[in-house]
Amino acid sequence: MLTPSLQEKYLLDHLPNGVYYVDGADDRYVITYWNKAAEDALGYTAEEALGMPCRALMGESRLASGYLCNALCPLSRLNEDWKDKKFVPVVTQLLHKNGHKLPIQIRCFPLLSEEGSLAGAAVFLEPLIPHEDMARCFMELEHIAYQDALTELPNRRYLDEKLKEWMSDWYQKKWRFAVLMGDIDFFKKVNDTHGHDMGDIVLKQVATLLRSSLRYSDLVGRWGGEEFLILMRNISPKKLFQRMEDTRKKIEKSVLGSADVPVRITISFGGALSRPGETVSSILARVDECLYRSKTTGRNRVTLDVT
Ligand code: GH3
Ligand code: MG
Ligand code: MG
Repeated sequence: MLTPSLQEKYLLDHLPNGVYYVDGADDRYVITYWNKAAEDALGYTAEEALGMPCRALMGESRLASGYLCNALCPLSRLNEDWKDKKFVPVVTQLLHKNGHKLPIQIRCFPLLSEEGSLAGAAVFLEPLIPHEDMARCFMELEHIAYQDALTELPNRRYLDEKLKEWMSDWYQKKWRFAVLMGDIDFFKKVNDTHGHDMGDIVLKQVATLLRSSLRYSDLVGRWGGEEFLILMRNISPKKLFQRMEDTRKKIEKSVLGSADVPVRITISFGGALSRPGETVSSILARVDECLYRSKTTGRNRVTLDVT
């Protein structure tokens, strides 16, 4: 099996570029060495990559006769390249373990047997997009996927995931948590009176007020429309009620809108603390019930189920 010597391995393991060795010929190349940088670039550990057919990284379909050859793959031209001593880099896409395709430049160098015949190749990965840029790209995409465009708060998709996470922590770590839903009272009237654009401004202002009146560790997001969801941990039922009352009053007292068009609104809250046997849908149903009670008993109030 074609593997680097100890000294070569030491050198390759410390290279910033991904490098892997393949052993074989034609379309039967198998990975026999995989350095740390290759692991960082493509997600597979050396343990997972060793023995893998190199073509699997191309994400190409497997035919009965073997992997469908990518005409551009420099491995398929290794014989000619070796004779011409031209090791032309090729821009291609390799399949990351997570399933996305990584745009990358690869360059193959022949590895010879002791008798001097072609035994395999060393493949060098040369990223087109520097690692940090790639990481930033993904963070930005994640931001878009999880952020509400209007209020810049986490969106419902994010809240759904956190609800599941916090529920699992409730059972595994006994971290009790509260779920609260705030719904602006008579918000339709704001739109009808001042227009939809002013409605949007008010929604952003409410988002800012909510964020500023909660603790750093509390999570607040936009559930949808004029509804906001809050998740809290490490809080007693009494303190929870107090904090939500303070938040409600802060919103009631604020003059929103603009200098020309002042808008006053109130908000109703419903909330519940997790309890044994709870599921995400059961706690949301209890929160909804409490919010409904706040709405039907006069609005601009906090109703909690902390049993
Ligand atoms: P209630 O006190 O019963 O909650 O009354 P409400 O008027 O707040 O409730 P309703 O559900 O009847 O109306 C919600 C309104 O919120 C209607 C919808 O046009 C408005 N709305 C939802 N999303 C947005 C948004 O992104 N921007 C603006 N401007 N308005 C929105
Ligand atoms: Mg509503
Ligand atoms: Mg409403």
